[in-house]
Amino acid sequence: MKISELFGKGKCVFSFEVFPPKKDMSADAIYGTLDSLKKLAPDFISVTYGAGGTNGDNITGDIASYICNDLKINSAAHLTCVSNTREDIDIILDDLKKKGVENILALRGDINPERPPKNDFLYASDLIDYIKKNADFHISAACYPESHLDSPDFISDIRHLKEKQDAGAEHMISQLFFDNDLFYNFLEKARIAGITVPIEAGIMPVTNKKSIERMVSMCGASLPAKFTRIMAKYENNPEALRDAGIAYAVDQIVDLVASGVDGIHLYTMNNPYIAEKISEAVSGML
Ligand code: FAD
Repeated sequence: MKISELFGKGKCVFSFEVFPPKKDMSADAIYGTLDSLKKLAPDFISVTYGAGGTNGDNITGDIASYICNDLKINSAAHLTCVSNTREDIDIILDDLKKKGVENILALRGDINPERPPKNDFLYASDLIDYIKKNADFHISAACYPESHLDSPDFISDIRHLKEKQDAGAEHMISQLFFDNDLFYNFLEKARIAGITVPIEAGIMPVTNKKSIERMVSMCGASLPAKFTRIMAKYENNPEALRDAGIAYAVDQIVDLVASGVDGIHLYTMNNPYIAEKISEAVSGML
């Protein structure tokens, strides 16, 4: 099913994100994780594309295919373009089509010094436009409640976001954030700018201090005092930090759902325990 068909049915869409196994990990682990996530019945699961533009043998496509064909859950394959040529993209699109994957989260990707840009696609909007004109996929795009790190200002980031919708994006998923007010402010500005597609809020539960610090330094999300107090208090107690992180994410989700957001996209970090705890806490209110 195309992801945009999930919206507008009087329910807040609830989706998950997983990533392919790292190079030194067994590929089997991800399939076990997905089997555990299945029972939580998310509306869809998206699969990331290797950071820096690497995606050996289209592992993202294999996993997205397993989700939709074997688990019978809607899936989306992330696809970055800046380190790919048009021919590379054609091969991946063909492969996704053969594997029955209907949804693509079309991204520029971070600029990787080890893989210089190929210059066929400069921005995500170029990829979206290309896919729309040359293939038949539902397209989602990324958005940034606190602006993308490369962006000189908030307004130009919103303007470029609108270009992604104009190019054919039918749904957006936000970068993680820890302060809901920042998301509400972004949503208001996006709607004023004429962005009408459903926008899901990206929520990342704290799993451990190190991973959050790394994530935040990479994406620039600001940390509210309430959040840093939790990290400081429980930094030496991993279980307590994990439980407090789950509670914080649940708190964010309850507020977002009560405010009528289109959807919640949970960055599961491939951790079914955390996804399960959060799903149990919020499923009745979606
Ligand atoms: P774009 O939309 O192209 O924007 C990038 C920057 O360029 C922004 O600052 C924008 O304002 C600016 N811009 C856009 N168009 C123009 C223009 N015409 N002229 C001038 N400036 C312009 N990365 C991965 O490697 N793999 C993943 O699987 C992955 N999944 C993600 C999922 C989500 C939900 C999010 C939020 C991010 C994800 N990322 C992923 C990270 C993403 O690749 C990076 O944030 C990347 O730097 C930007 O990608 P984009 O598609 O948002 O880029």
